[in-house]
Amino acid sequence: MASQFFAGLDLGGTEIKIGICGSDGTEAWSDRSPSNAAQGQEAILAALGEAAKVAIAAAEDRGGEVLALGLGTPGVVDPDSGKIRFPVANLGGWHGTDIVGFFRDRFSIPAVVENDANSAAWGEFKTGAGRGARNLLLATVGTGIGGGAVIDGELLQGSIGGAMELGHITYQPGGRPCNCGLIGCVEAYSGGWGMAKEWARQLATETETENTNTEALGVSDLIKAGLSGDPLANKVLDEGARILGEGMMSAVHLLNPDVIVLGGGIIDARPRHLELIEEALRSRLLPKALASLSVVKAEQGNRAGWIGAAMRAQHHLNKMGGTG
Ligand SMILES: [Zn+2]
Repeated sequence: MASQFFAGLDLGGTEIKIGICGSDGTEAWSDRSPSNAAQGQEAILAALGEAAKVAIAAAEDRGGEVLALGLGTPGVVDPDSGKIRFPVANLGGWHGTDIVGFFRDRFSIPAVVENDANSAAWGEFKTGAGRGARNLLLATVGTGIGGGAVIDGELLQGSIGGAMELGHITYQPGGRPCNCGLIGCVEAYSGGWGMAKEWARQLATETETENTNTEALGVSDLIKAGLSGDPLANKVLDEGARILGEGMMSAVHLLNPDVIVLGGGIIDARPRHLELIEEALRSRLLPKALASLSVVKAEQGNRAGWIGAAMRAQHHLNKMGGTG
């Protein structure tokens, strides 16, 4: 009997992660390719088309076929049309792109498109640290803060696919300006870019007399300094973790999840980060929110995006009555 696979693509600013998996999410093959993000919409679509072709060929090489294909992408994805709403940072011309239509015209298999953080939440829910949960809240801590939620076994999308903007919950009214244009968002304190900026500001204050170029310092420098024991770097990182925990309280009180899954580059690099976020949450949450709550590290790492997209494709096919 021919093997049946689901293909997943995870579009990022520099590369596309690609893979195929079985209906239980077991990886059969994966790879990565350049996303051509800087070259605009046409080039990104061409890269996605090529990635999909390679995934379909990988299934055929294994004597099987791809039943459906899923894509995770940055930006707000309209759940009804699959089109991108609003401009997306680092993906020029992506606003308005009809990705489902693009895949439909080129490949004769069903395709779904989902926001990348939502895909990752679904990936962890179906195949990772959230297996067996009913209500899951995912936070990814990297340059920005991503969020996703599964409630009563369904992905929470919102009316136009814009739900779960965890990074833009207000932490401090009138506080630091956020990249999104709002003021005082959690991301401005807890996202990698926000913490790196604060670290550079504090370094500049401390080393006023020295000629230190703090402008060029990024989040990877901050993490490196923290891991090598730099007290100021760790102070900034610890504060970012604590504020994320406090900011997430609102989401936990609203959604009453049974599991919180924490992932992303900073969580992977710095074990203390998860501990501090959990500590901040547990010390402040109402007892009813804590009653059955577990806080765990994401299991799928940077595979969650493509596996989640592939499992969204499977979910879509099941809903259409395609296959079990
Ligand atoms: Zn914001």
